[in-house]
Amino acid sequence: MASNRLACRDCHAVVEADEEICPICNSTSLTEDWSGYVSIAHPEKSEIGQEMEVTKPGSYALKVR
Ligand SMILES: [Zn+2]
Repeated sequence: MASNRLACRDCHAVVEADEEICPICNSTSLTEDWSGYVSIAHPEKSEIGQEMEVTKPGSYALKVR
């Protein structure tokens, strides 16, 4: 089954399909059109986390269109 989770266009957080507001940055700009799932547990120690300017641990999409 394809995942229909959503990703935030503003902070790239991946959220459940029934979410309407990003729990990380409170943006309502969520999209199904994303790819590359990455789980970041320690953003301050993660190169990807720093590159994406992630400040909170969580699940993020590498690419959001
Ligand atoms: Zn967000």
